[in-house]
Amino acid sequence: MSNGMTRREREVTDINEIKSILDTAKVLHLGLVDGDEPYVVPMNYGYTMVDGKLTVYLHGARRGRKLDLIRANPKVFFELDCGITPFEGDIACRYGITYESVMGRGKAVIVEDIEEKKLALSVLMKTQTGKDFDFEDKMAEIVSVIRIDVIKYTAKRRPMPKK
Ligand SMILES: Cc1cc2nc3c(=O)[nH]c(=O)nc-3n(C[C@H](O)[C@H](O)[C@H](O)COP(=O)(O)OP(=O)(O)OC[C@H]3O[C@@H](n4cnc5c(N)ncnc54)[C@H](O)[C@@H]3O)c2cc1C
Repeated sequence: MSNGMTRREREVTDINEIKSILDTAKVLHLGLVDGDEPYVVPMNYGYTMVDGKLTVYLHGARRGRKLDLIRANPKVFFELDCGITPFEGDIACRYGITYESVMGRGKAVIVEDIEEKKLALSVLMKTQTGKDFDFEDKMAEIVSVIRIDVIKYTAKRRPMPKK
């Protein structure tokens, strides 16, 4: 299995550029393993980046398929993207789309500690809105929080072609 990126010149390695993608995308596609089948679920997210280490937070209802799958197998993969602009070409194969994206693999942890849940919800709201929110215990108790300890991530950008 190849771990290298095709079109290597499109790889984004600058941490501030990667954070800009994470700040902009808003929706993450979470890939889970259901026995021998994949399962993908779109979700809003928050993140922290400390010394290049990426941690992702998700929240939702306290039950459902994705939680059952994480309990059975915490291995996850995710993708998020932004900057989507279609462009035209003179022939079909020069049509395309601009994008910026981040993909990564990690281990999902269902967070039970109430202080960590409240912190995660604040991080999530900061990523989603740019604003600071505080949470009371009862607000955190009624939702589930998933933390993804990201093991490896990559970022890629396809810019608008020069005319
Ligand atoms: C843009 C976007 C952002 C979202 N943000 C969040 C979020 O932050 N937190 C959150 O908990 N949920 C969010 N959702 C909803 C999320 O996609 C799931 O529907 C929800 O989390 C329930 O997932 P589950 O695995 O527990 O499914 P269950 O409720 O257990 O559903 C079981 C079945 O329902 C179907 N199903 C579930 N979700 C979807 C879906 N989105 N579209 C079509 N079929 C579906 C699938 O066939 C699945 O097997 C978002 C959805 C979208 C489109």
